[in-house]
Amino acid sequence: MKYVVVLGDGMADYPVEQLGGKTPLQAAKKPNIDALAREGLLGLVKTVPDDMAPGSDTANLAVLGYDPRKYYSGRSPFEAISMNVELAEEDVTFRCNLVTLSDHDTYEQRVMVDHSADEISSEEARILIEDLSKQLSTDEIRFFPGVSYRHLMVWHNAPLDWHLTPPHDILGQAVGQHLPGGARAEVVEAMMKKSAAILDNHPVNKKRIARGLRPANSAWIWGEGKKPDLPAFYDKYKIRGGVISAVDLIKGLGACAGLTPLHVEGATGNLQTNFRGKADAALAALRDGLDFVYIHIEAPDECGHRQEVENKVKAIELIDELVVKPLVAGLQELGEPYKIMVLPDHATPLSLRTHTTDPVPFIIYDPGAKKEPLQQSYDEASAADAGNYIGEGYTLMDIFLGSGQEG
Ligand SMILES: [Zn+2]
Repeated sequence: MKYVVVLGDGMADYPVEQLGGKTPLQAAKKPNIDALAREGLLGLVKTVPDDMAPGSDTANLAVLGYDPRKYYSGRSPFEAISMNVELAEEDVTFRCNLVTLSDHDTYEQRVMVDHSADEISSEEARILIEDLSKQLSTDEIRFFPGVSYRHLMVWHNAPLDWHLTPPHDILGQAVGQHLPGGARAEVVEAMMKKSAAILDNHPVNKKRIARGLRPANSAWIWGEGKKPDLPAFYDKYKIRGGVISAVDLIKGLGACAGLTPLHVEGATGNLQTNFRGKADAALAALRDGLDFVYIHIEAPDECGHRQEVENKVKAIELIDELVVKPLVAGLQELGEPYKIMVLPDHATPLSLRTHTTDPVPFIIYDPGAKKEPLQQSYDEASAADAGNYIGEGYTLMDIFLGSGQEG
C-alpha cells in the first residue's frame, strides 16, 4: 500500500463576504479534490488542543501522528535541525524573523507591517543576518541564516520561561504591547532594538526601498524551544516515508521523525512554488521504494496571513490541479493499492490573519474500499455535515494507515 498526505497549510477558513459568504475551500474550483471527497471518508479533525497554540508546528506534529501535548518542545528546534545546526542539551533555540516595522520615533510605537519583509530573498537576508551576528553574538548567543525571512538564534544556557509573540499575530499593531516577557526578557528586547538600529540604514535595505520593496528593518525573536525527542515514524508505523516541504519547520519535523527529505527544485513556500514538482517528486519517491510521502504546501497559509482572498482561492485551485490531479493519475499508473489524505494543518482565517484551533476538514480516500459516492464536497461545512469527528488529531494517522475506514 502507498500512502500520500497532501497538506495545504492553513487552507481552512470562515465564510468570507468577498466570496459571497463562501469559504475559500467552497469558492475554489477543485474538481479533483471534490471527487476524492465524494468517495472517501470526509470529516473534521481537531489537530490542535484548545490549550495549545495552533502553530504549524503543533498541528503538523499531530497530523504526523505525534501527540503535541507529549512531544512538542517548541518550534525553532525543528528549524534548527533542518538547517543542520547541532544542538546541545543546554541550547535553547529561537526563531529570528526579519520583519518590516513602520517608521516611528520609538521602537514601541513602530507597527508590525510585514512579518516576512516582503518575503526577502535568502541572499539579501544572509547579508543582514551575518551583520547582525557580528554585532549581537556573544559567547552564548549565535545566529544562523535560514530561508527568506526565517532565521535562527541559539542561546546556550538560556532559560525557558518566555512570553514571545509570533510576528504574524500582530500585523498592523504597534509592537510596544508585544515586547518580550520572561526572566531574561531585557536581553532579547535590547537585541531587537539594536537590530533595528543596525538594519534601518543598511545598504541592503536602501536598495530594497529603491526597488519598491519593504525593508527588513528589525529582527523579531520568538518561537523558543529545546531539542525534541520523537520516536521514529518507522518505529511507530513500520513504513518508510519521506517529506516534501519548502519550509525548514516541516523539513525539520520530518527529520526528527526519521522521514527522508525529498528535494524539489523551485519549492518556495509561496504561490509561485513548484506545485507540480511536488507531485512528481512524491510519485518518484514512491516508485523508488518509499511507502509514505507527506507533501506540505505553505501557500494558502501565507495568503491567509496576508489577507489575500483571491490568492488563497487560487492556491487551493493550484493544489487541486497541479498536485492532486497528477498524483491520483500517477498512483493509478503505479498499479499498487494506495490511499490519499487531504487536509490542512489548521485554519488560517483571512479575517483573523492568524491560525485558529478550529477543527479542520479532512478526506481519507481509499479506492480499494468501495463506497457509494455521496453528494459532498471538500469544505468546512460539508465535513461537519458528514458526521465524522476526530477529537484527538494525532489519532488520524492511525486511521489513515490502518486497514478500515472507521470514523
Ligand atoms: Zn500551518
